[in-house]
Amino acid sequence: MFIRHSGDYRWENVQLLAYKEEGNHFKNITRQILLDGQPELPCQVRYFEIASGGYSTLEQHQHIHYVVISRGNGDALVGDAIYHVQEKDVLMIPSLTWHQFRATSDQPLGFICLVHMERDKALLPTEEDLKLLNQNPDIAEFIRC
Ligand code: MN
Repeated sequence: MFIRHSGDYRWENVQLLAYKEEGNHFKNITRQILLDGQPELPCQVRYFEIASGGYSTLEQHQHIHYVVISRGNGDALVGDAIYHVQEKDVLMIPSLTWHQFRATSDQPLGFICLVHMERDKALLPTEEDLKLLNQNPDIAEFIRC
């Protein structure tokens, strides 16, 4: 299989999808599924792109993510750390760890994300979780919407 990059972070015969089917806890983000679970390697390789000012869902789940930043720059919350991320940086989002990506500069933030085909549903923070997260002023500043 070969999927040609057709320019501007689009790939031939790959649909530009909504980030998620529903919800309003994210902004200005698209998804493209580049590779989809073969039985021998039951993973999905997706390309996400967040337009300037946008963000992904603040969430956690059992399954983990491997992420390679592919375009532009922005900020990533992983647990209690906030990283300024840029092209070619690599992240691993561990199990049950709060995470969110934000396109905080005037550029888009694009990244490749690998996940297992079989994965649990993401959990969103409860009021109680948000209270805890907001105790850290840097995180409070990061997650403000
Ligand atoms: Mn996630």
